[in-house]
Amino acid sequence: MILEYHRPNTLEQALDLLARAQPLTLPLGGGTVLNAPCEARFAVVDLQNLGLNTIATRGSVLDVGATVTLQQLLETPELQPDLQAAIRHEATYNLRQAGTVAGTLVAADGRSPFAAAMLALDPVLTLLPDERQTPLGDLLHLRTPMPTPSAAQAPLGTSSQSPDYPITHYQLPNALITHIQINTKPALAYHYVARAPADRPVVCVAAARWPSGRVRVVVGGWGDAPRLALDAAQPDGVEEAVRSVAAEAGDQWASAEYRQDVAVTLARRALESVLEEA
Ligand SMILES: Cc1cc2nc3c(=O)[nH]c(=O)nc-3n(C[C@H](O)[C@H](O)[C@H](O)COP(=O)(O)OP(=O)(O)OC[C@H]3O[C@@H](n4cnc5c(N)ncnc54)[C@H](O)[C@@H]3O)c2cc1C
Repeated sequence: MILEYHRPNTLEQALDLLARAQPLTLPLGGGTVLNAPCEARFAVVDLQNLGLNTIATRGSVLDVGATVTLQQLLETPELQPDLQAAIRHEATYNLRQAGTVAGTLVAADGRSPFAAAMLALDPVLTLLPDERQTPLGDLLHLRTPMPTPSAAQAPLGTSSQSPDYPITHYQLPNALITHIQINTKPALAYHYVARAPADRPVVCVAAARWPSGRVRVVVGGWGDAPRLALDAAQPDGVEEAVRSVAAEAGDQWASAEYRQDVAVTLARRALESVLEEA
C-alpha cells in the first residue's frame, strides 16, 4: 500500500526522501509492480521529473537513463536484435510503455528474458548516493524480496489460480539507479523454451561474444535471478558450466535434469549464432 507519493524535481531531493528511515521509501519507475496491491506499506518517489529518460550514444556504448521505458529501448536502432527479442518477450506492448529499464531489472526474477539477455552483455549501472559503478551481476544480489501479495491481490492480468503466481518481486535498499551502460559491440543470441511462445521461459539461454573473443553465457527460467554460467576468453567447458548452474533448478514447472538437458542444447545453439556473427 502506497502511504505517500513524492515527485521531486532534483536528484538531491529524491535522495533525501529515499534516505529516510521511516516510512520505507522506494523509487517509482513505471509503477507496474509498485502500484499492485500489496501488504507492505511504503512511500514512493516518482522519478519522472529527474530527466533520466534519455539514451545517449558514446561509441559502442548506450548510456540508458533509468526511467527509459522498455519500448523506448526496444526502438533504439543500435540495439542487438536478440536484445530486442528479449524485450518483446519480457512484456506486452502496453506494459512496455510503462515499465522502465531500471524497474524491470530490479523487479526481475529468474524467468525474466530481459534480465537474462542483459546479464550476458554485462552492463554497468550507476548507483547513487555514492556514484558506485555496479555490474548487473552484482546488482541482482543486492536486491531484497518485496513482500508477496496474497493470491487475492495478484496484479490485474494474473490469475490467482495460476501456477504463475505468486511472483516474487524485488527492491534495491538504499540505492537509486540513474544510468545503465549497455555495450552494443558484442554479438548476442537469446534462445528459450516455454509452454507457449509468449509465456515466460521455463529455460532460457543468452550468449554474448565480444570482438576480443570473450564469451558470456547466462541461463535462466527459474529461481530469483538468471545465472551466469561462463565468462571466459573461449567457450570451452560451456556444457559442464551450464549443467552446473542448473543442478538445483527443479521446481513446479520442470525438473533440474530437464532444465540441464535443455539448457545445454540452447547454449550450443546460442553459441553457434554468436560465433557465426563474429
Ligand atoms: C499485468 C502485469 C503483468 C505482469 N507480469 C509479469 C510477469 O509475468 N513476470 C514479471 O517478472 N513481472 C511481471 N510484471 C511486472 C512488471 O511489468 C515488470 O517487472 C516491470 O517492467 C517493472 O518496471 P517498472 O518501471 O514498472 O517498476 P516499478 O513498479 O516502478 O518498480 C519496481 C521495483 O524497482 C524499483 N526501482 C524502480 N526504478 C528504480 C531505480 N531507478 N533505482 C532503484 N530501484 C528502482 C522499485 O523501487 C521497485 O522495487 C507484470 C506487471 C503487470 C502490471
